[in-house]
Amino acid sequence: MSETGKNQDVQPGRMEVITGPMFSGKSEELIRRLKRAQIARLRIASFKPEIDLRYQSDAISSHSAQTIQAVAVRDLDRLRALLFPALDTVDVVGIDEAQFFDELLVGLAMELVEAGKRVVLAGLDTTFAGEPFAPMPALMAIADEVVKLSAVCMVCGAPAIHTQRLGASQQLVMVGAAGMYEARCRACFRPEGDVPAAEQLKLPS
Ligand code: ADP
Ligand code: MG
Ligand code: ZN
Repeated sequence: MSETGKNQDVQPGRMEVITGPMFSGKSEELIRRLKRAQIARLRIASFKPEIDLRYQSDAISSHSAQTIQAVAVRDLDRLRALLFPALDTVDVVGIDEAQFFDELLVGLAMELVEAGKRVVLAGLDTTFAGEPFAPMPALMAIADEVVKLSAVCMVCGAPAIHTQRLGASQQLVMVGAAGMYEARCRACFRPEGDVPAAEQLKLPS
């Protein structure tokens, strides 16, 4: 160990952050990367917050029905308790919905990188109020690679960087609640809440 506490014998790993609004393909891209790591015979461990009860609780799922096995954990203490004793048997750590973990995720991800692991984190960059969604900004700042994806605006079809809340709910966390959110571009985003695009455009929904 050096004075900084880093183990000089271990080659550092790598941090990859996949971000963007809801429906931008973050989970798809995370799953794609993890599946390619499996093809390369790397050993992966994947986690998501228990709050994301959409689809299976033992998998990361995308809106396009891609899935990969994952453990749902209630908080970072639980993640740490499951992962660290088995760290020697893991090469790649995947975390979805990373925005729902607290700021301690930043230190935990760095610890994993210093232990030589490749860490791939997917999460929303902004809340439905359009504000940075901690801990994503800090993770983006220290990552080796940041992929910022856009979705398709449901109103006008332009690239969408925002997650539009439908209706007037003030609840911050409503993962996967069907019909509660849609992707919007800057021009079509209404931070105070909005009616669904299909209603505005008089489309059959
Ligand atoms: P995220 O994890 O970023 O919420 P997912 O990976 O779960 O996104 O889902 C991405 C998929 O969602 C796309 O491949 C597409 O099939 C679907 N989709 C639904 N609505 C939209 C939209 N407005 N823009 C882009 N993709 C959408
Ligand atoms: Mg997702
Ligand atoms: Zn738009």
